[in-house]
Amino acid sequence: MTTATAPAPQPLAPPPDLVPPPAPAAAPRDEIAVFNPATGEQIGSVPVLDRAAVLSAVDRARQAQKAWGALSVEQRCQRLSPLKGVLLDHMDDIAAAITRENGKTLQEALTMEVIFCLELLQVYLSRAPKALAPRRLPIRLAKNRASYLHYVPRGVVGVISPWNFPFSIPFGEVLFGLIAGNSVVVKPSEVTPLIALKLRELFVEAGLDPELLHVVTGRGATGAALIESGVQHICFTGSVATGRRVGEACGRLLIPCTLELGGKAPAIVCADADVGRAAQALTWGAFANHGQVCASVERAYVDERVFPALKDQVVKLATGLRQGDGTGDVDVGACTWPPQVDKIRELLMDARDKGAVFETGGIPEVGARFVKPTVLSNVHHGMRIMKEESFGPILPLMSVKNDQEALDKANDSDLGLLAYVFSADAEKARSIAERVQAGTVMINDVLASFSMVETPWQGVKASGIGRTHSDDGLRDMSECRHVNYDRFTLGDREIWYYPYSNGARSMFRRLLKLIYGSGLGRLSKPR
Ligand code: NDP
Repeated sequence: MTTATAPAPQPLAPPPDLVPPPAPAAAPRDEIAVFNPATGEQIGSVPVLDRAAVLSAVDRARQAQKAWGALSVEQRCQRLSPLKGVLLDHMDDIAAAITRENGKTLQEALTMEVIFCLELLQVYLSRAPKALAPRRLPIRLAKNRASYLHYVPRGVVGVISPWNFPFSIPFGEVLFGLIAGNSVVVKPSEVTPLIALKLRELFVEAGLDPELLHVVTGRGATGAALIESGVQHICFTGSVATGRRVGEACGRLLIPCTLELGGKAPAIVCADADVGRAAQALTWGAFANHGQVCASVERAYVDERVFPALKDQVVKLATGLRQGDGTGDVDVGACTWPPQVDKIRELLMDARDKGAVFETGGIPEVGARFVKPTVLSNVHHGMRIMKEESFGPILPLMSVKNDQEALDKANDSDLGLLAYVFSADAEKARSIAERVQAGTVMINDVLASFSMVETPWQGVKASGIGRTHSDDGLRDMSECRHVNYDRFTLGDREIWYYPYSNGARSMFRRLLKLIYGSGLGRLSKPR
């Protein structure tokens, strides 16, 4: 493994560096070469694990889970508690490793990845016992009976993760999986496998039984093998296309899956918004992490009364961003996965051909490692850039007549992960937020709910099924079982048991009228 040197920040004006030609000869067929996206330098390689290796990892994880799953939630949290100190001790190494493999800036590695992991530990190592405690269910009908839900480990959880948050996404799912009493097998993206291996090292350094957490490196076929390996749950984060395949495979096997998929987050800027704050938020929300955030601001609908002022401020901010190797003093890093540049090029060329105005930035060259922060105006929904996830630093600004037009445009999408509303009128903002078809709507802020770990991370429409983070996300890592028991018995049989008779039937008729037809039923409250 070689260490990348940190070149000086790259100015935006000159043409971007080009990715060196792929070097398949450097990596044997059963290995994946891993590159620093900012420099193109090879930084390591990992083996492509086949089905047998995946089965072996799952089997070992299954054996280890038996003792782990038998511990109480409190005991598991206690055993995981050294992890916080380990992360704090290693945070600079972790950030450097993320930047080297993913291309984001060191600051983003700390403020968008490491902070999330620390916050999750801080909150859930104390909150989990309560979140996973049995829950009583109110029952109205049978006063002699009571019910509760309790949460049981599923067994082995398979985590399949993407390259844009290569540390924090699998970290959160591994942590929740373990707290809930499972063992976990992670299949990281082939683009960023080294940081996943480091993640495992950190858990082991914190004292976790190494057999409870395995990382199986490889390509899509390794992920497919993990789904079919006998795991009890799949937690998948990635594109809509792969998510569909994962959902289909889990459906065939009848195993539950959580699907966290793509986004096309709209921002609605109302006429009464604080334009300065909205401009800052949109600029950061569109360009942070090189736009490679499922929650990125991918399109903005701005009231025509504030459009000129907002556009001027966004363009000024975007033009001032420094871009380059994330280890340097820069604001925007590199594109993690070079083929993504081809998709961005296609979308930008389509927008240009249909009349979009490039306020700043431009169409990247083939093979570019950096896409300049690009602000577009004069855009419309006939352009692909307004409909398809670009996953790049592109911010299309569209002028709209009023809030209703903004809302209609925001909802004109197959995707529904995050959305944003900017307004000084709290009541109006909430009213708009409640009508946007998205799993989460933030008012007067962007992206940051990811690190507010008590809140769910979830998509509607094609953006996903299920959720991660939050008490519900933790419970989803468990099997929820229901126990219904007798508080006291009413003789040797219930009235609906055998024998049936005309007398019993007419008694039931009177009873149904009494319970459901009169005030009596409404007075009887569930316990
Ligand atoms: P992909 O869907 O390409 O890959 C995701 C993971 O699935 C990778 O580990 C990949 O392996 C693996 N995989 C590929 N094929 C299969 C298969 N047939 N069976 C099982 N696993 C498979 O997504 P990207 O890595 O490109 O990530 C970017 C996407 O993720 C964007 O659309 C983004 O919006 C979304 N995303 C969603 C988030 C959310 O919370 N909703 C958060 C972050 C990203 P390999 O890489 O080796 O091909």
